[in-house]
Amino acid sequence: MAPQREWFEKDYYKTLGVSDTASAKEITRAYRKLARELHPDANPGDASAEERFKEVSAAYDVVGDDAKRKEYDEVRKLGPMGGMGGFGPGPGDGANFTYTATDLNDLLGGLFGRGGRRGQGPSRGPGPQRGDDLEAELHLSFLDAVHGVETSVNLVSEAACSTCHGSGAKPGTSPTVCPRCNGRGVLDDNQGFFSFSSPCPNCAGRGTVVSDPCPTCHGRGVERRPRQVKVRIPAGVDDGQRIRLKGRGGPGRNGGPAGDLYVVTHVAADPLFGRDGRNLTITVPVTFPEAALGTKIKVPTLEGDPVTLKLPAGTKSGRVFRVKGRGVQTKRGGGDLLVTVEVAVPQKLSADERRAVEALAEATTASPRAHLGV
Ligand SMILES: [Zn+2]
Ligand SMILES: [Zn+2]
Repeated sequence: MAPQREWFEKDYYKTLGVSDTASAKEITRAYRKLARELHPDANPGDASAEERFKEVSAAYDVVGDDAKRKEYDEVRKLGPMGGMGGFGPGPGDGANFTYTATDLNDLLGGLFGRGGRRGQGPSRGPGPQRGDDLEAELHLSFLDAVHGVETSVNLVSEAACSTCHGSGAKPGTSPTVCPRCNGRGVLDDNQGFFSFSSPCPNCAGRGTVVSDPCPTCHGRGVERRPRQVKVRIPAGVDDGQRIRLKGRGGPGRNGGPAGDLYVVTHVAADPLFGRDGRNLTITVPVTFPEAALGTKIKVPTLEGDPVTLKLPAGTKSGRVFRVKGRGVQTKRGGGDLLVTVEVAVPQKLSADERRAVEALAEATTASPRAHLGV
């Protein structure tokens, strides 16, 4: 992905509430927390939360990716925040030019050694453009998230027009080279040291014009339509995870590559089990006599037979027992089942039970609160 104009204007670290020296782990943690808080499902109808959610996602796109983050850090050093006087029109310089993302990419392409367009011949076209990155939500059942699943997401996005296959021309006709820009798609505008260019107004930057536009897309070459994209979700995805599907986003223009599709997962809760990374969790109630005297209890597992857990005498409420290998199994390794034992307090007592509890109270001499000194 080429650096974007927004990189000059946005402080992605600030958006995520981290310092620009934060580790990748810290950034991911900050992103997950914000994504959960701001998620549209958690804030129905709250437009500002949704806007923030998008900003946070966009920020994580860049600084959550090692390679992009490196480039972004470079760009920040060059941009309005770091010297060179900025690229935009400054106050009082009177020059009323605009730069386009394409031009900046050229400029940055040069800075990063990828080669710019300028000076490479008189009549290159606007060149291939990468398609948009898209984001889609995917709701998963608890089990599907644990096992991984092959499913599909529905999204409405721009896609190559089905009538003209993207040319914009009425079927049977073809686009012709734009006479104003000779197919370059841009008109130059020299501003001292930098040569900026603006998109050709005659062809809207495409380099070609269509005299007989396609009736479906009115010459744009793209149409918005619902798409179904097949996705393979790996075993063990977490709630709120962002999965990048390379090349499944918006279509490229002029032969450029497609953008990426980011799938944000929402994992439904299970009535019995919880997740803690690769570990599964479950809370099991026991009676006071079971905890005090020790016992064996049966504990269900998500897959396969129940396991028998031996509680020693004097098990405290809240103690966690680990059942090895009964957690989420992923390619990178498996987790355990963490069983939290909780002493249940009966809400109602039969006459027999009441008598027994009263007898126990009678026999109990030491107060568990002795150390409080009151
Ligand atoms: Zn069309
Ligand atoms: Zn033109």
